[in-house]
This record gives sequence, structure tokens and C-alpha cells, in this order.
Amino acid sequence: MFWPKTEIWTAEVVYTGFGTPMRKGGVAVQGAHVVAQGSLEELQARFSEAEVIRKGKALLPPPANAHTHLDLSLLPRYRGPFQGFIPHVMAHRERRGIEGAKEGLRRLAESGAGAFGDIVFKDEVMDFLLSESPLPGVAYYEVFSPDPREAEEVYTQVKAKILGWKRREGQVRVGLSPHAPYSVSPPLLARLAAFAKAEGIPLMIHAAESPDEVEFFLKGTGFFRAFFDRMGLTWEAPGLTPIRHLHRLGVLGPGTTLVHGVQVDEEEVALLAETGTRLVLCPRSNEGLEVGLPPLELYARYGLEFGLGTDSLASSPDLDVKNEALALWDRLDPRLLVRALARGGYRALGLPTPRITRGSGKALVHFI
Ligand code: ZN
Repeated sequence: MFWPKTEIWTAEVVYTGFGTPMRKGGVAVQGAHVVAQGSLEELQARFSEAEVIRKGKALLPPPANAHTHLDLSLLPRYRGPFQGFIPHVMAHRERRGIEGAKEGLRRLAESGAGAFGDIVFKDEVMDFLLSESPLPGVAYYEVFSPDPREAEEVYTQVKAKILGWKRREGQVRVGLSPHAPYSVSPPLLARLAAFAKAEGIPLMIHAAESPDEVEFFLKGTGFFRAFFDRMGLTWEAPGLTPIRHLHRLGVLGPGTTLVHGVQVDEEEVALLAETGTRLVLCPRSNEGLEVGLPPLELYARYGLEFGLGTDSLASSPDLDVKNEALALWDRLDPRLLVRALARGGYRALGLPTPRITRGSGKALVHFI
């Protein structure tokens, strides 16, 4: 009888999708399947003839890219101060749409992602993702509406669209994304959050990204004030940071995923942990837009699990989320980063984490 030869695959960090990532772990592979997983010592004792193959920095299930804007994939990449980014996207708005989303989805699949959380700006992109995505994910419909006078009308339209798309959910779920605390008026934000909670619709919001955002909420001055003035919009600063403002409007909670979380203090981190709010970090985009890095040690200290996302190709070099972990590799315990790529990302999206276990196909085993 022929027995395929056994190999033991190991890496600096080994994570099977459950439990704690291991420093000296591995998986045993025979033919096309995983036959065992555990500590390297146990595996070597059990499969004494097996060849041990070192696979690099990490071995993990397919990672989740928990924050993308696939429809921006045909835009040139912007690098520079955050203030220039929104004008950059607006200046190239004709290149935003279905063709970009197709290209982005192709690149995402090529990177080995197992799931995605995408911000969807146009209806046709939502239709495309719901009917054609080969990957599971959540497509969050994006809402921009800073003028409180439009709140009622926008709310009615968005609600009808979401409920319509929800009937077509398959492996891609429908979510809602009020863009940011400054770009959606407080009454609309509160209504969208209440609607999402009542209907069990996942919500994703960019918040606490740039120092300008905090200044605008605390004092009503700076870059966003000038932007609002040019648009003829009024703004009364709430005198609260963006995270506290969101909390007051009922936006935080386990159904909400906050993206960025760079400009936060310890009390806000505690608030996010207490409310069970989910978190996605996009460190390379943050560095490219010169807004700093999220307080990783603080999040770790409060046990706040996070996912990772690349953000769009308009602010990030590629859609391979593994490179987000590599960018932070020397700044945080790599076990936390590897878990963030897998379980952290899937949990941020409310999706089950794939697990490498006895019987798994070896194609489920990914490497960094
Ligand atoms: Zn984003």
C-alpha cells in the first residue's frame, strides 16, 4: 500500500484559526490534506520520518481583508497629507466604479484573501458583488450626507435600497457604511445606526483617522471647517471627540465596525472595548496619508481584537492584507498580528473564521 510522504510545515508563527497562535507549532501534511496540527515537538515525535519545512514568518488560514474600496482600484495612488486625499478622490471620480471594482476583486482573489469587507459607493457595484463575487464578504453601502436638512429623505432612500439588496444576499452580505462622523449629519447617523441595529445589518464607519477630524469635532475649526464653508454647509462642533460623538448617537456596539481608530485616547479605547465595537486597522494607508499609527499597545492592553484592511489602491500600494501585518511586524507581538489577519478580520465582518484542522485541504494553508 502506498502512503504519501508526510511533511511538517512550520513558520515563526503558526495559527490554525482557533486557540492561540503558536511560536513553535506546525501542521503535518500528507498528500493534499492536513493530517495533524499542534506543537512542533509533538508533531516530530508522531511523524518521526517527516521532513520539516520552514515556510517563513507565518502559517495561517486565508486572511480576511476587512476594509477595501474596490471601486477605487483604477485611481492613481495618492501619498501626502490627509487633506489632499478627498480632493484626489474627487478629482478622479470618473475612474471610480464597476470597472475598478472588477479589477479590485480580481487582485483581492489573487492575493489569497479568504473574505473581504468592501465599501460600496455605487449601486451597480453592489449588484456586481452580490451576484458575482467568488469570495464571501460584506458589501457596506456608503452614505455621504453632511446636510441635516436632507436626513429624512436620504434615510428613506437608503433604507429602501438596503432592504431590497438584503433579499439577494448569498455569500456576500449587505452592510451599511455611513462614511464618517463628519460626512453624515448627526440626525441621519442616529437613524441609520438604529435601523442597522433593528435589522441586524452590519455597520462600518471610518472614524478617528486624522487629527483634522478631532479638531473639527472639538473646536469646529481647521481643514474640515474650510471644506464645509466651501460647500455652504453649517457645522456646530459637538465639543466631543469623534468616538464620543458616535457613542452619544448610539452608533457604537457589537454590530458596528470602526475603521482606522488612530486618534484615540485611553478612555475611548476602553469605551470601544466596553461597547463591544469591532475594529479594523489600515496601517499602510494611515502612514501614506501621514496621520500616524493606531495605538497598538493600548488596544492590546484592553484586549480589543482587531482585523486588518488595506483600504483602497488610492491610498495603499496593493490589496494584499498580509502586507499590513508585515508593516507592523516589529511593532507588536506577531502572534497578535497573525490572529488579526484571520480571526480578527472575520470577526470584524461577522463571518466565521476558516480553520486548519485534520482533514483540511492543504490549499487552506496560507503563508507569509
Ligand atoms: Zn476606507
